[in-house]
Amino acid sequence: APKRRLVVVSNRVAVPRHGRTGGEGGLAVGVKAALEESGGMWFGWSGKTVEHDVGEPEAAGLFEAGKTTYAMVDLTRRDYEEYYNGFANRSIWPLFHYRLDLADFNRRYLAGYQRVNALFARRLAPLLRDDDLLWIHDYHLIPMADQLRHMGCRQTMGFFLHIPWPALEVLLALPNHRALVQSLCAYDLVGFQTEDYRRAFVDYCQRELGATVDAEGTLEAFGRRVRTGTFPISIDTQSLAEAAEEAAGSRQIHRLRDSVRNRDLIIGVDRLDYSKGLLVRVQAYEHLLRAYPANRGRVVMLQIAPPSRMEVPEYMQLRHEMEAACGHLNGAFAEFDWTPVRYLNKGFSRRMLAGFYRTARVGLVTPLRDGMNLVAKEYVASQNPEDPGVLVLSRFAGAARELDGALIVNPYDLEATAEAMQMALALDLEERKDRYRTMIDRLRSHDIDRWREDYLSALAA
Ligand code: UDP
Repeated sequence: APKRRLVVVSNRVAVPRHGRTGGEGGLAVGVKAALEESGGMWFGWSGKTVEHDVGEPEAAGLFEAGKTTYAMVDLTRRDYEEYYNGFANRSIWPLFHYRLDLADFNRRYLAGYQRVNALFARRLAPLLRDDDLLWIHDYHLIPMADQLRHMGCRQTMGFFLHIPWPALEVLLALPNHRALVQSLCAYDLVGFQTEDYRRAFVDYCQRELGATVDAEGTLEAFGRRVRTGTFPISIDTQSLAEAAEEAAGSRQIHRLRDSVRNRDLIIGVDRLDYSKGLLVRVQAYEHLLRAYPANRGRVVMLQIAPPSRMEVPEYMQLRHEMEAACGHLNGAFAEFDWTPVRYLNKGFSRRMLAGFYRTARVGLVTPLRDGMNLVAKEYVASQNPEDPGVLVLSRFAGAARELDGALIVNPYDLEATAEAMQMALALDLEERKDRYRTMIDRLRSHDIDRWREDYLSALAA
């Protein structure tokens, strides 16, 4: 049988642009390969906002590149505020990352979320063919399949959640939890990053919706059968390892090494987001310098933290707090010839980051909650196999389920995190190699291609 056409739907569409490489996220890399393979469509928001009074365009803007059709819709400023900054990033995001204290639930946001999902469904439906496979991504678009089904679309539809699925008791705080989960039952397959998240979802469905579940993880609810599965997203392991090796010879990485001199470099790379545990990381580092004073003048922490979602007030707040924390640390500990933390509010290409990772003796990844965390995987893939660095990884990152060669920490425990950092700095070459090998083997066998293939074969089955 000929391969069915793949239609990918996500909030943002990674349109190919000339002269730009290395800036694409894991999703873009993973999905593009599949679309190019047998032809397909990528549908989503254009990234553009328009004034409310221009009226809705009738159809999605289409453009072709290679075998892929890109189909994009603009949003009004108000849609963007309520759907994206509002419900997606001020209701679901904080709640699903266990930050009830930061969540803002209001009906205006919810209405915007539903309005945009309905708009997306209306614009996508006319572009669909009967035997298309739909793969819809992430928390922005949970209700989309339900919207499409109401319009009569009967295609196979899969959903993949890139962020955590919270425990039942946490999810109950969402005012429309029941309707939201019910809308997920319109999919044929719902995929999660880890088995824990999948189980939390099944738990909710059994206890709140009265669903039944069989041994394969298929739910029966509302007269529909919904399969569930675990598909940990990954990276392009091979090409990242090559990029890291190449970058290591570049002028910039020489500059980095010159500036670090004979000190040990500790690196953190995170969007400036409260889920990433940036503040506790700075505190743990401060603890390292206090509890093990021999590290003073001997280690340097490089924290790269590109600003993110700056229109959401909680993110601006975090930015101020991080500036205070890093300023305080440097003020308290710096010497005339040594600065303990280099804090950068800007992003780098993944190629450049690969070179940074390879230069760093310790990779510090301490999210308080993270669906997967690709930086952890990228850090490992970038290491020099002959002299690998050590990953210190939060148990609350999905990646901790796979990267068992890391030093796994509870990031809320500052002293233990500092101890793990100290241990990471002291590990001998043999143990570093052992730990690296178990992790790189996993990342080579479970790379981004494997993730996509596993998901799509489950969806098509
Ligand atoms: N990243 C990047 N440049 C930066 C910082 C991050 O290209 O300056 C990339 C990073 O390499 C990784 C992604 O952004 O591929 C972040 O993914 P992750 O799962 O770690 O976190 P998210 O930002 O999706 O929550």
